[in-house]
Amino acid sequence: MTNLQTDVRYIKGIGEKRAKALEKLGISCLGDLVAYFPRAYDDRRAVSPIGNLTPGDTVSVRAIIADEPRLSHVRRGLDLIKFRAVDEAGSLQITFFNQSYLKGQLLRGESYVFYGKVTGTLLAPAMQNPVMEKEADAGRMTGRIVPIYRLTQGVSLNLLSQAVAQGLTACGDHFPDPLPESVRTSHDLAQTAFAYHNIHFPDSEESLELARRRLIFEELFLLATAMGFLRDRRTDYNGRQIPVADLTPFYDALPFTLTAAQKRAIADAAADMGRNVPMARLIQGDVGSGKTVVAAACIWLAYQAGHQSAFMAPTEILAKQHYDTLSNLLFPLGIRVGLLTGSLTAKKKRELGDLIETGYFHLIVGTHALISAGVRYRDLALVITDEQHRFGVDQRSALTEKGDHPHVMVMSATPIPRTLALIIYGDLDVSIIDELPPGRQAVDTFSVDETYRQRIFRFTEKLLDEGRQAFFVCPAIESDPEDMSGGLKAVEEYAKNLQTDIFPNRNVAFLHGKLKPKAKEAIMASFVAGEIDILVATTVIEVGVDVPNAALMVIENAEQFGLGQLHQLRGRVGRGAHKSYCVLISSNQNETTQARLDVLCKTNDGFQVAEEDLALRGPGDFFGSRQHGLPEMRLANLQYNMDILSQAQQSAVALLEDDPKLESPAHRALRDRIQTMFDLHGDGFH
Ligand code: ADP
Ligand code: MG
Repeated sequence: MTNLQTDVRYIKGIGEKRAKALEKLGISCLGDLVAYFPRAYDDRRAVSPIGNLTPGDTVSVRAIIADEPRLSHVRRGLDLIKFRAVDEAGSLQITFFNQSYLKGQLLRGESYVFYGKVTGTLLAPAMQNPVMEKEADAGRMTGRIVPIYRLTQGVSLNLLSQAVAQGLTACGDHFPDPLPESVRTSHDLAQTAFAYHNIHFPDSEESLELARRRLIFEELFLLATAMGFLRDRRTDYNGRQIPVADLTPFYDALPFTLTAAQKRAIADAAADMGRNVPMARLIQGDVGSGKTVVAAACIWLAYQAGHQSAFMAPTEILAKQHYDTLSNLLFPLGIRVGLLTGSLTAKKKRELGDLIETGYFHLIVGTHALISAGVRYRDLALVITDEQHRFGVDQRSALTEKGDHPHVMVMSATPIPRTLALIIYGDLDVSIIDELPPGRQAVDTFSVDETYRQRIFRFTEKLLDEGRQAFFVCPAIESDPEDMSGGLKAVEEYAKNLQTDIFPNRNVAFLHGKLKPKAKEAIMASFVAGEIDILVATTVIEVGVDVPNAALMVIENAEQFGLGQLHQLRGRVGRGAHKSYCVLISSNQNETTQARLDVLCKTNDGFQVAEEDLALRGPGDFFGSRQHGLPEMRLANLQYNMDILSQAQQSAVALLEDDPKLESPAHRALRDRIQTMFDLHGDGFH
């Protein structure tokens, strides 16, 4: 029997050869095929008598081939088929270029539908390379609303739409519906069979709209339910209870007083760890809000209970900084901290490995070297990852597997609008640090065009005279020789120009991801030490790095960056006592671009930046790459579908309240779908 898992090669009319082609689009089973939704539609419904054709129109024409189609070989690489097609009132000249294989299908006296753009003249209309179907079996590519798919080499629109049509026929009316009937009817959603047929081959605009609404709802509902389901599933585990010790000795050792928001986050996490369910908590806080000390508090609690902790950062530079910060905070309290990164020698790694395995180190800070196969922990009870958007869910869970159901804390400085947070972080509990430590000054931000560059250099000179340091960020590493437009500023060249032409008496250095880790480390260290005045860099400096003396951030080609990214970059300055500035340079006069950059000039609040970015650009940035480890959205676009999202979310919450484990037979299909979506086996997610 055919079901959605059936390999497409077994579907009537597809076969081995087409299946191979479809594979290139990631389509291997029937379910993939019918869920390969069109990216657009072409309305080919308008049919016109030949007598009414006007050059420039794009229409369908019903006509009979009136003379024998002639194939002529004009020259190498140019074949023509020419013929006349007629209806009662007129005659149309048709030419196919380089489609000699059509010759056998074009029969004189037979009736066809041709769809294409009219050329020629009013009295002598013509069409070149029209889409063509025999009238007897027309209706898939002409005379209707036709789906347009994303294609690839070897997969034509015709091949794909034919395959989809075969797929839909194979499914018939038996589409499994993951939506419980009650959810479907209470939201007035179309049935699956109707939705799938009409999303591909809509009968009308209205049917298409109904189909879209149903499928978008389904997509968001599945995601919302999956997230809630995954969160609830955590009660299945048996975690280690870490008693909530009195934190006074820890607080007393700090060089500052915690903000109320930091205390709340620590209290949330401490309560989590005190339960026998492993913590899975996200600490979300803007750059500089002081997330590290929240992590330190939890590490201290784990240490008090005799357990090991691990702290993973996305880059070597960050791992090193966290190592320094955390050692300073925790060493006086008796906690031994080790640093493990990929660039250590094999011998060093072995030595460290032993000290980790024997439990000499209470805390190990590092890069993803922490999850490499050779590393064994003695008693890993707490796992912390910083800047979560850099890690996939799989990397996080690899670290988790090093322990025995350890507590997990994820720290993110990427503010996510609240409306999206539930979906993106739906599987985590969230603490938000929405308050900066006292005394922070806002970073004054300006958006300017290229004509300001000399003034910016003079301003830089003045700040350097005062003893400050500056960052210049460029979008590219090397200049692109193909790009004649003047193009994107490139780090190495830019640094060279600054050094020789503008600041000959200052120390200018550059930093980007292609440098060896050791070199990066050395440059960063000497910038932190104040030996470098100006650091030209790509976004490698985006996350975390702390240089309190840096007071100026200049960003070239600012339009190239997402608002969130610009906000992160800006967060690299204003971390000390000095008044700090951020200058966004862009010669792009596009209104939306300017509006986006203006958002940064107006506010220093990362959450507000994120909300405005969402309003201006849609959620692409948040959902875009698979950075959150979530399945890709096929149809939903939250910029337009916010209302459906909130309905789907409410409905998911209500359903899970009734049936948290999705055990009811009515929820069987839903549960199955969620399981395939996340490829869950046993307890795989965390
Ligand atoms: P982020 O949230 O960006 O990781 P950090 O943890 O690096 O922020 O903290 C930023 C800076 O603020 C650090 O230098 C840290 O020592 C300092 N800091 C953190 N909390 C406080 C506080 N409550 N009062 C004063 N300074 C603080
Ligand atoms: Mg940080």
